[in-house]
Amino acid sequence: MQLRTTLAASALAAMSSVAAFGAAGHGSMGEGATAHAVLKNAQGKSVGEAELRQGVDVVLIQVRFDGLPPGRHAFHIHEKGSCEAPDFKSAGGHFNPTKAEHGYFAGKHHHSGDMPNFEVPSSGKIMLEVANPDVTFGKGSGNLMDSDGSAIVVHDGQDDYKSQPSGDAGSRIACGVIEKD
Ligand code: ZN
Repeated sequence: MQLRTTLAASALAAMSSVAAFGAAGHGSMGEGATAHAVLKNAQGKSVGEAELRQGVDVVLIQVRFDGLPPGRHAFHIHEKGSCEAPDFKSAGGHFNPTKAEHGYFAGKHHHSGDMPNFEVPSSGKIMLEVANPDVTFGKGSGNLMDSDGSAIVVHDGQDDYKSQPSGDAGSRIACGVIEKD
């Protein structure tokens, strides 16, 4: 009974903080806005859970992966909120509202959805945090919640940060649609 009371109290506290946030005049997808994505592999098994949060001028992406193949993998935001297994081609290309070239070492600008590689240990588990300054949950060209949404994608290989159009990173092995909380 004590536990139930505590849970109810914390739920109420969470609700009232949302109300206070709204009353302050911020849009529902402004600073502090959150979203999430469940990344699944080609067999439909969940291999990662991502939480995204709008900061002052970045979106912080935190992912707990469990069940990815060991080794270095490319990690990108793709332009459509669609993850049809097994190839995840439905997610489209990299999120690229500014029509830039792919990669940190290619042209003057890179895709907004470009992010650094990460390396999975033999356990298949890794906790990853990336701050992406090129995307937002607000208005403007970097809005991840544009009309067709967006998705987080993990590739089989690593991004070389220069090959067009996607860093020669190989096939897509996991995908998760970014959804508003
Ligand atoms: Zn790219």
